[in-house]
Amino acid sequence: MGRFDGRVVVITGAARGIGFGTAQRFSAEGAKVAIIDLDEAAAAEAADRLEGEAVGIGCDVSDAAAVERAFERVVAELGGVHVLVNNAGITRDNLLFKMTETDWDLVMNVHLKGAFLMTKAAQKHFVEQKYGKVVNLSSVSAWGNRGQANYSAAKMGIQGFTRTLAIELGPFGVNVNAVAPGFIATEMTDATAARLGLGVEEFRELNAQNNPVRRVGFPEDIAAAVTFLASDEASYVTGQTLTVDGGAKLVS
Ligand code: NAP
Repeated sequence: MGRFDGRVVVITGAARGIGFGTAQRFSAEGAKVAIIDLDEAAAAEAADRLEGEAVGIGCDVSDAAAVERAFERVVAELGGVHVLVNNAGITRDNLLFKMTETDWDLVMNVHLKGAFLMTKAAQKHFVEQKYGKVVNLSSVSAWGNRGQANYSAAKMGIQGFTRTLAIELGPFGVNVNAVAPGFIATEMTDATAARLGLGVEEFRELNAQNNPVRRVGFPEDIAAAVTFLASDEASYVTGQTLTVDGGAKLVS
């Protein structure tokens, strides 16, 4: 028996990276999974790679009408919704004096407006059925990171959003938590390496030396934390942000 047998899990930005790793873990533990991502073909292909029942849906999480349509499809095709993982994310890094208004707005829209729209759509189902789990992706960058004023503000915003929804939705059987990853080896951090003019392995090795466990994180590390927070074992945990960074924040 899996921890998520009979549960429908919606994960945004899940065609690759942390989202896909998390989708694999939920699927392996019995969940039906909806992979939401910008590109419908990539989402469908990722869904096909999961071991259990899954659907891939193309949706920009910052587009209210697209989010409504995506939820209609999830309910029609998978039969309900019990867990939402707000994972979709982008970076548009620059020092403040070079950061454009467009790059500020893009980052806010995907992380904050996206989480708002997705959670608002999900909570209708959660409150009605008196059961739901929301896990939001924050980041250790929330506590400040040079060149990431937009991303850092959005990721700290996610923590305030998480705490507030935990207060509002707790009485309706809904737990809301966040995970703040440190360095995780994905295309997002590979792109950062390229921007800094470093090789992928060189950048990973540098980051591995910045934490007590002396390795970088992988999507599986975040999947383990997300699935714990979305499980019934964590039903007395809400409004929390769990840092998963190999202890990097302790020594920085
Ligand atoms: P990733 O490899 O870049 O994957 C992000 C996915 O989100 C991509 O498939 C992307 O689609 C999708 N996406 C972007 N904008 C979207 C939108 N508007 N609507 C729907 N999907 C959208 O990133 P990751 O490293 O797995 O990161 C996942 C989450 O963890 C993000 O919230 C990120 O901020 C957070 N995080 C990551 C790290 C890390 O070290 N990797 C650390 C801390 C926090 P496209 O490919 O089409 O753009």
